[in-house]
Order: sequence, then C-alpha cells, then structure tokens
Amino acid sequence: MPQINLLPDNVHVDVGTIYCIGRNYIKHIQELENEVNAEPVLFLKPAASLITQHREIELPAFSSDVHHETELVLLVGREGRNVSEDHALHHIAGIAIGLDLTARDTQTALREKGLPWTVSKGFETAACVSDFLPTQHFQDLGALEFSLHVNGELRQQGDTSLMIFSVPRIVAFISSIVTLEPGDLIYTGTPHGVAALAPADRLDLAMGELRATFTVKSA
Ligand code: MG
Repeated sequence: MPQINLLPDNVHVDVGTIYCIGRNYIKHIQELENEVNAEPVLFLKPAASLITQHREIELPAFSSDVHHETELVLLVGREGRNVSEDHALHHIAGIAIGLDLTARDTQTALREKGLPWTVSKGFETAACVSDFLPTQHFQDLGALEFSLHVNGELRQQGDTSLMIFSVPRIVAFISSIVTLEPGDLIYTGTPHGVAALAPADRLDLAMGELRATFTVKSA
C-alpha cells in the first residue's frame, strides 16, 4: 500500500483514496479553454499511481503530451461525512505540494468521446507528492503560495487565495458525496502554466518550508 511521510516525526501514513479537484483556478481554465463549473469537478487517481521523491516519473508510452499540474495536496486525518465548511479544517491533518500529472492528448481524446479520464490521470507515477507538514504549521490555507521550476526555470506559480473552491468548500463537497477517511489525499487543482514534460526533466516544487524534487526517467 502506498504511504506518505508526515513531518516532523516522519510518521508513515497508508494512503486510501486519492481525490482530485479540476478547474479550480480561472487562468488555468482559460488556458485549456474549459468552462467554469458551478460545482467542483471531482475525479480520482488510483493509490497505486502515487509516488514520493524516492521514485522517478515514468512517462507512459501511450502519450506524447504529459503535463505537470502543480497542486496543494491535503491529507485527511479524521473520518467525516457531511462535514460543514466551518469544521472542514479539523479533518485535514497535513498539507503537501504535489503534481497531478496528466496525459493531455489522452484526456482530450477521452473527453471528446464523453469517456472517463482515468487513463489520462491514473497511470503509473501520475500522482507525485512531497512530504506533508501538519496543518498547524500554516497560518492560513487560503493564502499559500507555491511554485514549480522545471530544469531551473519557473513554470508555475500558485496562490491558494485564487482558488474558485476553497479548501473548506472542497472538504464539504467531497464529504457530502462519500465519507472521507484518514489517509485519503485531496489534490486541489492547478494554477495556469501547465506544460509538457520531457525525459530527464528535473522538477523542483516549493511551498513555504516544503521542498520536493522529482526527475523524469531518461528515455
Ligand atoms: Mg489537476
């Protein structure tokens, strides 16, 4: 079972369901020419697609356009069903920075046919995540800045104050559909600047004190 690392005591947590929110930043919706939705767009990744910094990213053979999407990632610490926005943060044990890797060509083809996105979002190594810091380390989850550099060049800069659906709203929304369980992860959507990865790329993620580096396997 995949595990994440919760700092500062290096507690290893078994990962359950990986929830992802799509289309949560206006400029990213515009760059892909998508529509703004009244409700969060929710999809899943298999837990087996999750990697931490100990493994390289593997670009799948079926795609020639795998995009990085840099996202705030939440670790659920407490079971919750129909959680109110006021209580939402009590259910989040930790925060990380991660990548929702997306085979954009595959996703576009599936979307045009009205089919699920699973192949484009759920391939081996498609969910990358840093270590987690306890939520208390962050003053305000609604004002976190994060970034991605690829091969030393700034590619994405995020600011959670620009989210369409806030962290409490996301927790309330998912838990209105199904029970959130300890060990579940929630990817909260990417800001603009998504672009294709190439073999041997080096990806440096940063958010506050959190840092993570991933490399793409060489061809
Ligand atoms: Mg995403």
